[in-house]
Amino acid sequence: MSRFLSERYRNLIPYTPGEQPRNMSFIKLNTNESPFPPSDKAIGAAARAAKELNLYPDPECRELSGKIAETLGVKPSEVLVTNGSDEILNFAFAAFCDKTCGACFPDITYGFYKVFAELYGLEYKEIPLKEDFSIDVSDYFGAGATVFIANPNAPTGIALDREQVEKILINNPNNVVVIDEAYVDFGAKSCVSLINKYPNLLVTQTFSKSRSMAGGRLGFGIACEELIRDLNTIKYSTNPYNINKMTAAAGLGTLEDAEYTEKNCRAITKVREYTEAALGEMGFECTKSAANFVFAKHPTISGECIYSRLRDAGILVRHFGAERIKDYNRITVGTEEQMKILIEKLKEITEA
Ligand SMILES: *Cc1c(COP(=O)(O)O)cnc(C)c1O
Repeated sequence: MSRFLSERYRNLIPYTPGEQPRNMSFIKLNTNESPFPPSDKAIGAAARAAKELNLYPDPECRELSGKIAETLGVKPSEVLVTNGSDEILNFAFAAFCDKTCGACFPDITYGFYKVFAELYGLEYKEIPLKEDFSIDVSDYFGAGATVFIANPNAPTGIALDREQVEKILINNPNNVVVIDEAYVDFGAKSCVSLINKYPNLLVTQTFSKSRSMAGGRLGFGIACEELIRDLNTIKYSTNPYNINKMTAAAGLGTLEDAEYTEKNCRAITKVREYTEAALGEMGFECTKSAANFVFAKHPTISGECIYSRLRDAGILVRHFGAERIKDYNRITVGTEEQMKILIEKLKEITEA
C-alpha cells in the first residue's frame, strides 16, 4: 500500500475472483461459467459491432434494454443494463444504502456483498443461514437495512420460492430488497413478475452464467421506474457508457437465440442431476442445488484436500476457507464429458 491510498480504503479487503488460469489444459469448474460457447448470433453480432468501435455506444442501450424488456414482459423503463451484474449490485449499494441502516445479507453468500458494504463504509449485518444452509425468511423481517439475497444462493445453490421472497418484501416496506438471480435459469422461480406489486423490489440478472457471456460483462436490473431512475443517477455519475458496443450487440444476439440458451440450461440441469447422483454414491453430501454448480462435502476427506488433489489432477473447483463451509467444494457443472472425468478422479481420491 502506498502512503497515498485514501484513509477510507486502508482496511478494504477486495473481492477475490476465482482463478482464471492462462493454461487452459485445466478442466475449469471453479467460476460457474457456461461450458458452452456463446450463440452464433451473439458472435456474429459482436463482430459486426466491432466495425463501429470508433463511435461511443448508446448510453441508454435502448435496443438491448428493449429486447430484455420484451423477453421478460416488463417495460424498457423498468430495465437498466450494466457491466456484469456486479455493476448493478454496486449501483444498488451506492443508491439505496445509508451509512447506519446499511445492508444485510446471509453469512454464507456471494462474497461481493460484503466488499461493497465495506467499500461504501456501511454498517452491515450478516445473518446466519440455518444449520442446513437454508434461509429463514423471518430473520429478514423488519431488517431496517437494504436486503441482499442471492436466489438461488451461492455457493449453496439453495433456492427460495416466490412466496418466501414476497414475505421478505412485505415485511420490509421501507427498504429496498435486492434479489440477485444470477443462477435463476437453472431451476429457481424468478421474481421479475413482482416488480409492479412491490416498489421496493430490485431483481438482478446476468448474461454470465446461463447465457454463455461471462467474458462479455453484461448484467441488468429490473425494478419499478422510480428505482431504475435512482440507479441511473449513480450510473450517469460514474460510467454513462458502461456497456461497450460489442457486448450490447452480443447480448441482443443471445436473446434472439433463446432456444440455444434454453437447450444449454436443460443440458446443465441434467448433468447436475447426474453429478449429484454420482457424488452421492461416493458418499458425498450435496446441498439441494437449483444452480449450475453443486456444493459437496465428503464425510472423511477435508474440502481443502479434495480441492488440491483435484487441482493436481488438472481440475479446478472452488474451495472457500470460511469456517462453516470449509468442508465443502463448489463444483461448476460443465459438460457431461468434463463431469465424467471429475467423477473418475474423485473415485481415485476417495478410494485411495
Ligand atoms: C456470478 C455472480 C454474479 C455476478 O456476475 P457478473 O458476471 O458480474 O454478472 C452476481 N451474483 C452472484 C450470486 C453470482 O454468482
